[in-house]
Amino acid sequence: MTKEYDRILDFIKEDDFEIILCWIDKNTYGEIHYEPEQKILINIYLLVFDTFIHEYMHEKYPELKGLKGEEKINDKTRKFVSRMKVSEIKKLAKYLMAEYHKS
Ligand SMILES: [Zn+2]
Repeated sequence: MTKEYDRILDFIKEDDFEIILCWIDKNTYGEIHYEPEQKILINIYLLVFDTFIHEYMHEKYPELKGLKGEEKINDKTRKFVSRMKVSEIKKLAKYLMAEYHKS
């Protein structure tokens, strides 16, 4: 294992922060809250959905390649996700995560 692995595992085990997988908002992947809350929030729904839509955009626009193409895919992903309802993002992310657990 790397030094980084050990460092992160130690940090997790120190238990100074409660780690919560949850929904935050459409623009925030995570947040750290210091005392008195001592929480790290991870927007699992947005991370999964955003990543999936990014790859979906690659499938939809195969002509967008390279660094410029990647920028356009990121742009399309951002716009696509911003048009969707929060309830839709959560439902589709839950569906994706359930599919993952099957394999
Ligand atoms: Zn990409």
